Formats: sequence, C-alpha cells, structure tokens
Amino acid sequence: MKVAFFGREGKVGRAVIPVLERAGHEVVGIEVGEPVEIAGFDAAVDFTTPAAAPENVRMALEQGVHCIVGTTGWDPAPLDALARERGRVLFVAPNFSIGAVLMMRLTAEASAHLPRVEIIELHNEAKKDAPSGTAKATAALVAGGAAIHSVRLPGLVAHQEVLLGGEGELLTIRHDTFARESFAAGVLLVLGRLSELPPGLSVGIDSLL
Ligand code: NAP
Repeated sequence: MKVAFFGREGKVGRAVIPVLERAGHEVVGIEVGEPVEIAGFDAAVDFTTPAAAPENVRMALEQGVHCIVGTTGWDPAPLDALARERGRVLFVAPNFSIGAVLMMRLTAEASAHLPRVEIIELHNEAKKDAPSGTAKATAALVAGGAAIHSVRLPGLVAHQEVLLGGEGELLTIRHDTFARESFAAGVLLVLGRLSELPPGLSVGIDSLL
C-alpha cells in the first residue's frame, strides 16, 4: 500500500517506517512544514504531537485518505463527522503494541475480581503528555476507575504496571516496550484490515486481535 507517514523523523517514525517498508509498503515520510499532497494514497499514519495531529488528520481526510493515528493527548472525536462524510476510516489507538493491548484486556478481566486497582506508567522524559493514553485507556476499563502514577525518566521507552490489590494479595500485570519497532505490529494489523473497517472513528486494536 502507499502510505504517508507524519512524523518521519520522530522516535516512532524512525523505528516504524523501516518495518512497514520491509513488509512491502511504500512509505512517504512527511515532516513539519512539508507539503501534504497525498490524494490517492491508501492511508496516512500519524505519530507526531497532540498539537500537530488534528490538522494532519483533517488534511488527510479532506484528501480522501484513511488515517491511522498513534499520537496521544488529543481528542479525535470532532473529526469523526468529516471521516464519515468522506467515507474514510479514522483509526486511533492509544497503543499499537500487541502486548500492551493484551495487558489491557487482562486488566479488564482481573479487575472484575480484584477491583482495587492502581496504575504506574513509565515513559521517556521526552514524552509530552501525562498520564499516557494507554494508562487512561486501561483505567477506563476498571469499573471503579484507577489512580494513575506517571514517571518520566531518561532511558525508559514505554512501560506500565497494573497493580490489583486484594485482602492479603497483590496481582501485578506488567508490560515493557523495549523498542519502538513493537508499534509497527499494530499499524500493520490495521493496514491489513482497513477495507473491513467502517467509515468514521474506531478506537483501539483490541477488537482486531
Ligand atoms: P517525537 O520523537 O517527538 O516525534 C514526533 C515527530 O513528529 C517529530 O519528528 C516532529 O518534528 C514531528 N512533527 C511535529 N509536527 C508535525 C507535523 N505537523 N507534521 C509532520 N510531522 C510533525 O515523538 P514520538 O516518540 O515519535 O511519539 C509521537 C507521538 O506518538 C506522541 O504523541 C506519542 O505519545 C505517541 N506514541 C503513541 C504510541 C502508540 O502506540 N499509540 C506509541 C509511541 C508513541 P519536530 O521534532 O521537528 O517537531
């Protein structure tokens, strides 16, 4: 497929673009200020910033291009109507790594039995938003909600621990992302399923696993 990638020079872009290319996709990377003429592309992928993503997505949808967005810390809901009107998919996921999505699924199941839940999310110091989109999405799966603790330190990539406390016991579900190449798995999954998805906003790869 012919894919535009917003955020070519970002940490995620530099890791994920080569994996998409090795999988056979033709990827055109786009950085800040570069012209966005992508009509006829099969999809646009965005891993940029919460400030840049809404405009990138709006421009792509207006040119009739499906959007797959990993950028967190912004609200895609206002663009749902435009995606539907253009008959295009707007797929947004707080986490494109398979292991992280399984961590969320296991949290939903375990918290039905151990409802006292707290989340510790740990990311690289450069991450602009806190708490992380994954932590917020995980907390939303817990019936009574869950407190989130954010850590930002050098050397980290993306890590999350879900602590489920019971009387005299503690269950810990932990996921570690060691390399950003892991996010390519989810992007490839969505690219492969684009034709099955309905127009408009879809959130999360859980339903595709
Ligand atoms: P990053 O290293 O800061 O990279 C962002 C890149 O986007 C930078 O190269 C930036 O360029 C570029 N950019 C900014 N505005 C742009 C625009 N208008 N058009 C095109 N490119 C633009 O951040 P990252 O670590 O790659 O993460 C990017 C986003 O993805 C963050 O929101 C992060 O939280 C999210 N993320 C999501 C997942 C997931 O699975 N959903 C996984 C990892 C990260 P400049 O440096 O020149 O501004």
